Amino acid sequence: MQKEFTLRLKPQEAASPETIQSYIAQTAGCPPEDVHGFLIMKQSIDARSKQVWINLGVRAFIQEPPVQRNRISYTFKDVQHASKSVIIVGAGPAGLFAALQLLELGIKPIVIERGKDVKSRRRDLAKLNREGIVNPESNYCFGEGGAGTYSDGKLYTRSSKRGNMDKVLQLFYQFGADETVLYQSHPHIGTNKLPHIITAMRQQILDCGGELHFNKKLTDIVHSNGKINAVRTADGDTLKADAYILATGHSARDIFVLLNRQQILIESKPFALGVRIEHPQEIIDAAQYHCSVREAALPPASYSLVEQVNGRGVFSFCMCPGGIIAPAATDPGELVVNGWSPSKRNNPYANSGMVVQVSEADAVQYFKQQKQSVQADALLLMHFQQAIEQKAFQAGGGKFVAPAQRMGDFSNNRGSASLPDCSYLPGLATASLNEVLPDFVYKSLQGGFRSFGKKMRGYFTNEAVVVATESRTSSPVRIPRLPNTLAHPQLSNLYPCGEGAGYAGGIVSAAMDGQKLALMIHQQWI
Ligand SMILES: Cc1cc2nc3c(=O)[nH]c(=O)nc-3n(C[C@H](O)[C@H](O)[C@H](O)COP(=O)(O)OP(=O)(O)OC[C@H]3O[C@@H](n4cnc5c(N)ncnc54)[C@H](O)[C@@H]3O)c2cc1C
Repeated sequence: MQKEFTLRLKPQEAASPETIQSYIAQTAGCPPEDVHGFLIMKQSIDARSKQVWINLGVRAFIQEPPVQRNRISYTFKDVQHASKSVIIVGAGPAGLFAALQLLELGIKPIVIERGKDVKSRRRDLAKLNREGIVNPESNYCFGEGGAGTYSDGKLYTRSSKRGNMDKVLQLFYQFGADETVLYQSHPHIGTNKLPHIITAMRQQILDCGGELHFNKKLTDIVHSNGKINAVRTADGDTLKADAYILATGHSARDIFVLLNRQQILIESKPFALGVRIEHPQEIIDAAQYHCSVREAALPPASYSLVEQVNGRGVFSFCMCPGGIIAPAATDPGELVVNGWSPSKRNNPYANSGMVVQVSEADAVQYFKQQKQSVQADALLLMHFQQAIEQKAFQAGGGKFVAPAQRMGDFSNNRGSASLPDCSYLPGLATASLNEVLPDFVYKSLQGGFRSFGKKMRGYFTNEAVVVATESRTSSPVRIPRLPNTLAHPQLSNLYPCGEGAGYAGGIVSAAMDGQKLALMIHQQWI
C-alpha cells in the first residue's frame, strides 16, 4: 500500500532516512519493518519559531516494495527533415527551452548565439575576475545558457502561473539536475552544476537535427510587409526561417538600439536599481535560525525582505546564501554586480541584491539634475541604467573594482575607513555611494536597511558591505506582443521572448516563456 504523510521534524531528524522511516511507522500505526521505503514529495523549512522545523511531504510504501520516483521523460522528435523551422536568437533559458519545446512538436530550431559554448566561456569569466578584462561577447550574461549558466541556479519564481513550471523543473531533472529540484520549496542547482545541464540540452538539440551556432550575433533584421524575411549576423550570414524568436536577454542593448533604429516598436519598462549587500553568512544564520551557530543539518540561511520607503518599494533580490558576488557587466567601462553560489553553498558569505523601483519620471528627473539632455524615448531607462553603471565603474577606479561602503557608514553618510573581506574577486574600493547612486535610490536604501535591521536581528551592521551597482535586475525595455498570437504587433513572425523582451524575470519564468512561444507558434501552424 502507498500512503502520503506530512511530517514535521527537527533538522537532524529530517536528515536521517531511518528516523523518517520510524516517524512514518508511528504515524501509520504500523511496525517500522512494514515501511519498505519512502519518497520525499515536498520539503520546506519553517524557521518562524525558535525551534526550526523541516516540513516533509512523504509517500510511504507500506508492506510493498518501494518504487522509484515517477520520472516524466519528455521525448524529442527528429527534425532533420522537418517542414518548418524557427530561428531562435539567444541560447539563454528562454531560447533553449523554446528549442526543446519545438523539438517535441517536430519543428526545427536553429539557435544562434553571440557568445561561446559553456566551456570556452569559463576562460573569459576567469579573465574578468582575475584581470578585470571583459569580453563583450562572452561574459556572465552572454554565451551558451545565457545569464542562466553561471547564475546561482535558484529555480523558483513568483510567476508560476505564467506557464508550466513543473515541466521546466522536470526538464532540468531530465538533463541532469538533482532530484531535489522536484520537491524542495526553493530548489537550487548551483553554478558548478549548471554547465553540464546546459551541455546536455545542447546535445539533445543537435542529436535531433536542430542547430546551435555559437559566435553568431544577430545584427540586422530584414523585413517587409509586416513580416521578417531574414536575419543577418555579424559574420555576414543571412538566415531564413518560418518564424523568429528573439530571446536576447536584458543585457543586449544593441538589440534594443537595432529595433528602435528599424522602427520596430519597443517601449521603456520600469526596472529596479540598487546595490548588492554581503554579510558574513553566520550573521544571517543566527538571525534566521535564532541560534549562535547553525545546526549542521540546516542549509545556510537565506532571506527575502521588502519594505515601502517614502512610497517606493525597496526589496531584496536574488539572495545567494554561501555565495559569491560576481562582475556581471557586458561592456568595458560599466560596472554591474550580481551573485551566485555553488550547489553546496559553502562560501562564508551571504549576498543579495537590494534594489529600488525606478520609473521613467525618475530617469527624466535624474538627467535633469545632472544637466544632461536625454531623449524621453523607449531607450530612456536603458540609458539611465547605463549611466549609473558607468559612474560605478569610474568610482571603483577601473578593472571592475567595485565601489563599496560599509552598511552603517552608508546609512549615516560616512565614508568607510576600511572594508570587510568580500567575495567579489576583482576587489573593492572605498567610495561614497551617494556619488554613484541617484539620490532617491540612495535615500530609499538607507531607509530600507534601517527597517530591515528592525525585522531581522543583526542585518543592520557595519560588518556588512554595500557594493555598487545592482542594475540588471530586469529589462529596461519591453518588446510588445499581441495577446492572441504573442507575435510582435508589426511583424507577424517575430516572437519577442524571455527576460529581455520583458516577459520574464529569472531562469524558470524565462524558460516557461520560451515554451509558451514555441507552443503558440505550433498552434498557429496546425
Ligand atoms: C550571476 C547571475 C546570477 C543569477 N541567478 C539567478 C538565479 O539564481 N535564479 C534565477 O531565476 N535567475 C538568476 N539570474 C537571472 C537569470 O539568469 C536570467 O533571468 C535568465 O537567464 C534570463 O533568461 P533569458 O533566456 O530571457 O535571457 P539570457 O539568459 O540573458 O539569454 C540571452 C542570450 O541571448 C544572447 N544574445 C544577446 N544578443 C544576441 C545577439 N545579438 N545575437 C545572438 N545572441 C544574442 C546572449 O548571449 C544570451 O546568451 C542570474 C543572473 C546572473 C547574471
